[in-house]
Amino acid sequence: MDGLLRQAAPMALHLLVKPTGAVCNLDCTYCFFLSKELLYPGSRFRMADELLETYLSQLIEAHAGAREVTVAWQGGEPTLMGLPFFRRSVELTGRHRRPGQRIVYTIQTYGTLIDDEWAAFFAEHGFLVGLSVDGPAELHDAFRVDKGGKGSFGRVMAGLAALRRHNVEWNALTTVHAANQGSGREVYRFLRDDCGARYLQFIPIVERVTEQTLAVANAGWGQRAKDRPLYRQDGALVTDRSVSPQGYGRFLIDVFEDWVRRDIGAVYVQMFDVALANWHGEPPGLCVHSETCGRALALEHNGDVYSCDHYVEPDFLLGNIGKHRLLDLVALPRQRDFGLAKRDTLPGYCLSCEVRFACHGGCPKDRFVRTPDGEPGLHYLCPSYQDFFRHIGPAMAAMCDLLKAGRAPSELVAKCAAVDARRGRNEPCPCGGGRKWKHCHQPQPLAGRPG
Ligand code: SF4
Ligand code: SF4
Repeated sequence: MDGLLRQAAPMALHLLVKPTGAVCNLDCTYCFFLSKELLYPGSRFRMADELLETYLSQLIEAHAGAREVTVAWQGGEPTLMGLPFFRRSVELTGRHRRPGQRIVYTIQTYGTLIDDEWAAFFAEHGFLVGLSVDGPAELHDAFRVDKGGKGSFGRVMAGLAALRRHNVEWNALTTVHAANQGSGREVYRFLRDDCGARYLQFIPIVERVTEQTLAVANAGWGQRAKDRPLYRQDGALVTDRSVSPQGYGRFLIDVFEDWVRRDIGAVYVQMFDVALANWHGEPPGLCVHSETCGRALALEHNGDVYSCDHYVEPDFLLGNIGKHRLLDLVALPRQRDFGLAKRDTLPGYCLSCEVRFACHGGCPKDRFVRTPDGEPGLHYLCPSYQDFFRHIGPAMAAMCDLLKAGRAPSELVAKCAAVDARRGRNEPCPCGGGRKWKHCHQPQPLAGRPG
C-alpha cells in the first residue's frame, strides 16, 4: 500500500447514485438527507429499470476514453432496492461497457440488510463496500438508530461479519460528531483491531441550521417527520450533535498519533493520504481538500442530476438524464462555476494561511463563519484544520522526503519508535491532548491484534 500510501485516482467525473432517493431503513438523528423526500412528493423512490439502463449507458459514454469506470451506489439505503436490482445493474453494465474497460462497483450502506447472499454477490463482482460505523456500541448508537429509536450497532456488526466471511473488500465510513469527537484513539483502535478495517474515512458532522430550524433539527430530523423542513445549506448555527470547531482536529490528531507509530502503509486513512498527496504536490483525490470541485455530482432515483451530494436542493438541479445527456449537464457553465467558486470565494484569511495548500478552505457548504477580521465565508472547522495540518506537518515532510528518495513512507514508523524510546512514561503525550505518554499514545503490545 506504500507509494503514496494508496493514491486515489485524480478527480474524474464521479456520480453518486441514489436508487432509493432519501429512503432508508434507519433514522439516524443527524441525517438531514431524510428530509429530501420532500423534493419528490408522492414518489415511490425506486429507480425504474429503463432509467437504470439510461444511467449506466450514459455513465459509460461519459468515460468513453477511460480504462476504468466507477459505478457508485449510495442512499438513503441502496440495499433496500433488493439484490435483483443490483444483479440487473451488473448485467447492464456488462452489456454497455467498452472493450478493455474495467468497471469498479462501490456501494455505501448501513449494512443492516447484508447477509451471506448479499456478501457473496459483492465478492463475486468485486464491490468495494463502504460501511457506516461510528465506533464501539455506545458511540455508534448515540445517533445511528432505527425508526423505533433503537441502536443499530448489533445489526451493522452482523452485516460486517457476513462481508468478512466472504472476503469482501470494505472500508469504514465513520462520522465524527459530538458523541465520539473526544474518542479518536478508541474509535480508531476499535475499527482497526475489532473490526479488521484497513481502509477508513472520517467525515465531520456539521449540521448547519438557522434560528428557525434549530429546534426541529436538534430534536432529530427523523423524529418529528411532520415538522421537518427541507434541509438546505443555510444558516450560521449548528445542531447539538455537530462536531465542535476544534473537535474534528483533535479527533484526527488522536488517530494520527496511533497510525504514524505502527500503521503507515498497512492501514489507509483517507484524510492522511489526502494530506500526503497535497504535501507531495499530487492531486489529492478528495474534493473537500482540492483547490476546486464540481466533478462529484448526485443522481436521484428519477434521473435528476444535482451539482453535489450536499446540494440536492432545487437551486442546484442541473437537469434530468431522461431529457439531457449526462455529459452535457456536467459541462454546463453553472456547474463549472460551482466548482471554481470553491477557490474563488476564499476569504483573505485563507489566502494568507500557511496550510492552505493542504486545506484549500474545506467544503463550501460549511463556510459560514466570519474570519477574525470579520470577513464572511470562513469554514466552520477552520480551527480543526489549522490544528491538524500544523500538527502533522513534520511527519508529512518526513514522508515526502522518503518518497523523493524512492523509499517507503512506512519507514517513518521506525524513526518514531527511536524518538519514542527516549520519552519517559510520565512525560506529556506528544499528541497534545494533555495526558501522560503512558496513558495515551504509548504503543501497546501487539498480542491479540488480528492480521
Ligand atoms: S486552515 Fe482555515 S484559514 Fe487555512 S485554508 Fe483552511 S479554512 Fe482557510
Ligand atoms: S461542495 Fe463540498 S462536497 Fe460538494 S463537490 Fe464541492 S467540496 Fe465536494
